[in-house]
Amino acid sequence: MENVADYKEIIDVIKASGGDAFKSCFQCGLCDTVCPWNRFRTFSMRKLVRQATFGLTDIESEDLWLCTTCGRCPQQCPRDVKQIESGVALRRIATEYGVFPASVKPIRAIRGSLMGEGNPLNEERKSRADWAKGLSVKPFTEGMEILYFPGCYPSYDPRLKKVARATANILNKAGVDFGILGEKENCCGESIRKTGDEEAYLRLARENIKAFIDNGVKKILVSSPHCYHTFKNEYPEFMVHFEIIHTSQYLFELINDGKLELKNEYRKKVTYHDPCYLGRHNGIYDEPREVLKKIPGLELNEMIESREDSLCCGGGGGRIWMETQKGERFSDLRIEQAIEVGAEELVTCCPYCITMFEDSRLTMGADDKIEIKDLTEIIQEAI
Ligand code: SF4
Ligand code: SF4
Repeated sequence: MENVADYKEIIDVIKASGGDAFKSCFQCGLCDTVCPWNRFRTFSMRKLVRQATFGLTDIESEDLWLCTTCGRCPQQCPRDVKQIESGVALRRIATEYGVFPASVKPIRAIRGSLMGEGNPLNEERKSRADWAKGLSVKPFTEGMEILYFPGCYPSYDPRLKKVARATANILNKAGVDFGILGEKENCCGESIRKTGDEEAYLRLARENIKAFIDNGVKKILVSSPHCYHTFKNEYPEFMVHFEIIHTSQYLFELINDGKLELKNEYRKKVTYHDPCYLGRHNGIYDEPREVLKKIPGLELNEMIESREDSLCCGGGGGRIWMETQKGERFSDLRIEQAIEVGAEELVTCCPYCITMFEDSRLTMGADDKIEIKDLTEIIQEAI
C-alpha cells in the first residue's frame, strides 16, 4: 500500500471537511451490510474509516471513488460517523495530488467543461436555453414569482430536455409567473464537490449566487434533487438563503391549490423510485407519491426497497461520470425490481436516475418491458 499523503495531512483534511467523526467508529460493520456495492463486489466503508483513522489511506485505491453518497449507511450508523463527508475528504486529497484510477479519469474532462462552459456535458454555454425554443418561456426578471432552474442535464441532454419542456408546459398551464436564467445559469456544483473538487464547486456556487442576487431571485424551482440539496443545504454556507422547491413538491402544491386539474386518464401500472437526494437526504417521500395517486386510472405499486430503503441508482457522488462495469450497475437491479412488481413505467424525479435507468433499460434489452418517466412527463399528459 502506498501512502502519498502522510498521516497528519489526512487527519487534517478529514477534520477540515467535517469528517472528524471518523474516530468515533467502533467497527460494527453495519455500514457494509446496507451498502449496495456489496451485492455486486466487495467494498467496505468500515475499512476505509478504519484506515483513515490511522492516516493509512491508500489514495490510489479505486475504493475511494466507489461511494455513491447514497445516504444509506449514515442512516444506520450507531455512532453518527459521517461517512459521506469523510469519504469526500479523502477524495479531496486524491484530487489535490491528481491521483485518479482509470475508471475515474473522465472527471478531468468534466472539470474542464464545468469551468469553461458551466456544464459537465461539454456543451456550449450559449445554448443553455435552447431546450425552451418554441415554448413561451421568458428570461427571468426581478419581481417574477419563480426562477425555474432546470440544471445541466435537462438543459442539454436530449432525453432530459423533455423533462424541462414538460415542466415549462405545466407551469404555463397553471399560469405560474416564471422565468429562466439561460446562459447565466451554471451547474449547481453538487456532484463535482462530491468528487473532492472543492475549488470547482466554490467557483460554480459563487457564480450562481451572484446571478441569483443580481437578478433579484427569491424562489427557485428545480428539476434535480442534486440542485435542490446543494441550494438548500450547502449554499447557505455563503450566508445566503433562497426559497427552494423541487418540481415534485410544486406539482403537489399546484394540484392542491386547484391550479392544475388532472382531467385525462393515465391507465398505466407504475412504480416510484425515490432518488437518494430527494428521499434520504431531504426527507421528500410523500409529495411525489401523492401526486401519482391523484392521477385518474394510474396504478401505483411499491418496489421491494422504497422510501428510506430505496436502492440507489448508482449515479450520485459523481459516479454518473465514472465508469461502472457491467454486472456492477445498481440501476440494472432497480430495473429488475420495477419489472418484478409489474410496472410498465418506472417513475422518478431526478435527471441522474433517469440517465442511469435509461442506460440500463437499453443495455439489459428491457426497452420493450419498461419505460422510464419523470413525474412531470406524466402530469403533462394528465392535464
Ligand atoms: S456503521 Fe458506523 S460505527 Fe459501524 S463500522 Fe460503519 S462507520 Fe463504523
Ligand atoms: S453512502 Fe451508500 S454507497 Fe456510500 S458507503 Fe454508504 S451505503 Fe455505500
